[in-house]
Amino acid sequence: MRRDLSRIGGGGKRVDKIMTEVTRLLEIAMTTDDEVLMRSAVRHALSIAEKTGLRVPRRYSLYICRGCRSVMRASTGVRVRTRVERGGKLVIRCGVCGRIKRVPIG
Ligand SMILES: [Zn+2]
Repeated sequence: MRRDLSRIGGGGKRVDKIMTEVTRLLEIAMTTDDEVLMRSAVRHALSIAEKTGLRVPRRYSLYICRGCRSVMRASTGVRVRTRVERGGKLVIRCGVCGRIKRVPIG
C-alpha cells in the first residue's frame, strides 16, 4: 500500500480517496469475525484518519472503543445503558477493556 500521505491537502479528490480507504478498512473491521484482522483494520483506519486530519464517520466512531481500539459489538460483552438526565445519553461500556463512552442523544 502506498503511504504517500505527505502530499495531501488541496485537491479534494485525494481526500475522497483516503476517506474511501478509511471507510473500507472500517467496513472490514465491522464485518469480520477475525479478531486480529479487526484490530489491525481499526488501527490502520484510525492512523490514516489521524495523519490526514480526517474525521472518522460517526456511524463507525460510535462503535470503536478508544481504549483498546476494538469494535464494540454484542459478542464482546459490550453494555449499553441510557441516562435521561441532561438531555439524555447513551452510556456504552466496552466489553474488552471496560472503557466507558458517553454519547449525547437528541
Ligand atoms: Zn475497549
